[in-house]
Amino acid sequence: MDLQKHHRVIIIGSGPAGYTAAIYAARADLKPLLISGSQPGGQLTITTEVENYPGFPEGIMGPELMEHFRKQAERFGTQFLYKTVTGVDFSKYPFGVEAEDQMFTAEAVIIASGASARLLNLESESKLMGYGVSACATCDGFFFKDKHVAVVGGGDTAMEEASFLTKFASRVTIVHRRDELRASKIMQERAFKNPKIDFLWNKVVTEVIGNQKDGVTALRLKDTQTGEESEFACQGLFLAIGHQPNSEIFKGQIETDENGYIITEPGTAKTSVAGVFAAGDVQDHVYRQAVTAAGSGCMAAIEAEHYISALEFALMAD
Ligand code: NDP
Repeated sequence: MDLQKHHRVIIIGSGPAGYTAAIYAARADLKPLLISGSQPGGQLTITTEVENYPGFPEGIMGPELMEHFRKQAERFGTQFLYKTVTGVDFSKYPFGVEAEDQMFTAEAVIIASGASARLLNLESESKLMGYGVSACATCDGFFFKDKHVAVVGGGDTAMEEASFLTKFASRVTIVHRRDELRASKIMQERAFKNPKIDFLWNKVVTEVIGNQKDGVTALRLKDTQTGEESEFACQGLFLAIGHQPNSEIFKGQIETDENGYIITEPGTAKTSVAGVFAAGDVQDHVYRQAVTAAGSGCMAAIEAEHYISALEFALMAD
């Protein structure tokens, strides 16, 4: 597709925050360009059923919900580019945005690049990623039919992924580093009630044992209370230990906190650079919900529109 070089608003990211920003910016006649990133639709495209997005009393599948968002953004004139933003220049105005081999300029930028699954950072984990180790049960669960798999983590994601995996696996063991779960009560109860799920408490994975030919065969575990080491036989490992913000390419150009989350002015989507706004999980480590991401995307678009209008007004008054 031939895209013009200059855009009034460029939105980086295609999760609930990015698409909602696009709906609002497009309806404000700003003809936004949305650059999707490597996972169009964002994290919800790798979840199963979303039960807590208002307006869907029976629940809705994550990918289907995101397709609704995308179509709604398209309807009002959003332009889409299915590439990844590889660099930005916020030191000049209009701002520069590089998407692989294409360079764009924009009067306002909305960062909605989301967050990605956190890993254990073990050498054996990266060696076996895709060979028995996965960070996405929805994507890979199917490959573990009648196998015994482990899920690391104690949050809602771990409970959800473990429950989902019981559709395929013969047994799912949740390995958690404490003796208490972080997950919400309803998700905990579902996991506790599921006869295919059991728990290993106070354990961390120190090594994934296996090879690329046979996949995972066992985990080396360490007890967080006693320091005791043990080996646990299983045929797959799913990581569900949270996420990290996708803010690497903005580092040095915009303020982030010590964990990389973009800092926004409280109650707004304004970042440390005037004209650059942030929405969704890249700036929210507290709520991280589709509905809060969508809400902040709306805020970012309204603020971008105000910013552009104020600049135009100032130029006219000159
Ligand atoms: P969380 O941050 O809530 O949980 C991460 C879990 O991983 C914690 O139990 C944590 O342990 C553990 N952990 C973190 N790092 C390590 C490590 N290096 N080694 C071992 N364990 C580790 O992330 P989630 O992805 O579960 O959830 C994120 C947000 O999304 C939450 O707000 C959640 O409610 C929401 N969510 C909602 C869903 C729904 O309602 N359907 C589904 C999925 C997520 P510890 O507890 O000791 O810190």
